[in-house]
Amino acid sequence: MILDGKVPPGSLDTKWTHYKDHLKLVNPVNRRKHTVIVVGTGLAGASAAASLGELGYNVLAFTILDSPRRAHSIAAQGGINAAKNYKNDGDSVFRLFYDTIKGGDFRAREANVHRLAEVSVKIIDHCVAQGVPFAREYGGFLDNRSFGGAQLSRTFYARGQTGQQLLIGAYGALMRQVDEGTVKIFPRREMLDLVVVDGRARGIVTRDLVTGEIERWAADAVLLATGGYGNLYFLSTNAGNCNVTAAWRCAKRGAYFANPCFVQIHPTCIPASGEYQSKLTLMSESLRNDGRVWIPKRAGDHRAPREIPEGERCYFLEERYPSFGNLVPRDVAARNCKAVCEAGQGVGPTGYAVYLDFADAIQRLGANVIRERYGNLFQMYERIVGDDPYAAPMRIYPAVHYTMGGLWVDYDLMSNLPGLFVLGEANFSDHGANRLGASALMQGLADGYFIIPYTLANYIAGTTLGRVSTDHDAFKEAANAVQTRIDHVLRVRGDTSVTTHHRRLGQVMWEKCSISRTAQGIEEARAAVRAQREAFWQNVRVPGEPTNFNKSLEQALRVADYLEFGELVAIDALARDESCGSHFREEHATPDGEAQRDDEHFAHVAAWEWHGGDRTPTLHTEPLHFESVTLTQRSYK
Ligand SMILES: Cc1cc2nc3c(=O)[nH]c(=O)nc-3n(C[C@H](O)[C@H](O)[C@H](O)COP(=O)(O)OP(=O)(O)OC[C@H]3O[C@@H](n4cnc5c(N)ncnc54)[C@H](O)[C@@H]3O)c2cc1C
Repeated sequence: MILDGKVPPGSLDTKWTHYKDHLKLVNPVNRRKHTVIVVGTGLAGASAAASLGELGYNVLAFTILDSPRRAHSIAAQGGINAAKNYKNDGDSVFRLFYDTIKGGDFRAREANVHRLAEVSVKIIDHCVAQGVPFAREYGGFLDNRSFGGAQLSRTFYARGQTGQQLLIGAYGALMRQVDEGTVKIFPRREMLDLVVVDGRARGIVTRDLVTGEIERWAADAVLLATGGYGNLYFLSTNAGNCNVTAAWRCAKRGAYFANPCFVQIHPTCIPASGEYQSKLTLMSESLRNDGRVWIPKRAGDHRAPREIPEGERCYFLEERYPSFGNLVPRDVAARNCKAVCEAGQGVGPTGYAVYLDFADAIQRLGANVIRERYGNLFQMYERIVGDDPYAAPMRIYPAVHYTMGGLWVDYDLMSNLPGLFVLGEANFSDHGANRLGASALMQGLADGYFIIPYTLANYIAGTTLGRVSTDHDAFKEAANAVQTRIDHVLRVRGDTSVTTHHRRLGQVMWEKCSISRTAQGIEEARAAVRAQREAFWQNVRVPGEPTNFNKSLEQALRVADYLEFGELVAIDALARDESCGSHFREEHATPDGEAQRDDEHFAHVAAWEWHGGDRTPTLHTEPLHFESVTLTQRSYK
């Protein structure tokens, strides 16, 4: 099936305005008659719930955490992009649009990306008005720094805590609505199924993570803002609670999953120190503004970094990519870091690391300026690694970080299941095959503050929605399905922990289906995931009861979903027989080792329809049309 992204007519820069001018509206008095479920209270969900509450809808917001303020968005360090051109260095909406489309290797929908660039400008004003303490210059203007893939400074930041400060802003707006009575928050609730009635999303089933109670909730629309699935790989920079469960249960109810193999590997993470590590830590990309990436020229040079003279160092990113240097996009930096380590030039105890060195910047600017810009990040590194980055370079290595794949959505952010909207990292929409830094926060907030209030109104006003009660058979069936799965996983009573299963799955996915891939490796990954899935249902051990707080049970249900979803990632990776962005197939490289796209066959979104069990899913495509940019080989040289 050819999917329709429902892009509005008109020239690229007038589409969104034209859309807003012609959409259907819901009268203020009628809004309170409509209940909207928002699942997830990260930046995308909190901003959506706050905006819809302010408009007067009756909003029910769910999160697996004990507070909306603890969503994974809190971890975002580096910043948020916006085309404000405060630096007068040539930025514009078009340039932000162009960099984002190019950074994603021309695998995103033009109209969405342009809308994102337009809206970026409003986001900053909105957040400043909320009191978000962005860094300021001497004259009082907001300060900017650069991020990978851009030759100008458009990234707004609040030291190394941008996500946290933005989330506090969104949380404040949300709490105001709680106080007004338009939003009700349900913490410690995990959505475990979607309820579809007459082909429309009409509710969800949750589990109360403290009491174990299975609950049903009905609504006129369901907004999914449940974040990304990077933890499929076990080791990642994502918070421990990030998962694919909600999105995957929607996929099992008929929503198409788009580009699941588009996973971003971030170059700037603290390397793993041992096999039993459960998480990796990101060092923000902003550090590459002042930190220089290097390795010793001679393989096996084990001298301390400060003892290696300048002439015996290789600044491989600066040498290979003179225009962008250390600020090449993440996929390019990550691939190069991995390649030099595999060539035996890596540093540190494992040999899987490169240096990120601030000596030049400290000499040029002084340690105090560096402390002001990155103080908390340096502190974090020192606490984790035990080295002082003011005195010796950091050691970094790539790690799984962000997922560009997600549920397929059209221009309205609505999935192919009417009434199911998907926001933020949970959808596939705006970053193509690679996400430029500081764009995820921008997208989550664009979706929640500025897009969904319009597109949801258009849906509600244009649809006849009868009342649906939670006694409807579809609710009973979904609640029973959830209960059956819980009973099943508890009954296995095997001898292998959930973490062991998760680690094994992650290792396979990392080795065969991550930073670079081959057809043979992906086939092996697919077979290994199936075998691991079978093993899980035979020997997983889930202690405890279903009727109280049971972390093992929570994790087991999420890992069970990863064991199904991982196979879809492999299927998608195999089907995309080209290299693009972060998705590098070794069979397809340019003569100088860069990703070789195949625009003739793959300038499309791959959206998969799941059929259950071991049956092969069906591929639906949305062709990508480029009217405002010319598809070129991506170059940062
Ligand atoms: C370490 C790190 C640093 C980053 N730095 C930056 C940066 O500097 N700039 C940038 O632009 N991006 C950055 N990113 C990416 C960015 O932080 C995320 O993409 C973004 O915050 C995702 O927001 P979200 O609202 O979509 O999801 P999240 O913040 O992940 O929120 C998901 C929400 O869904 C809830 N949830 C999940 N599943 C369920 C379920 N089944 N039932 C109920 N609730 C559920 C969770 O409890 C949570 O409330 C960074 C990411 C990481 C990992």
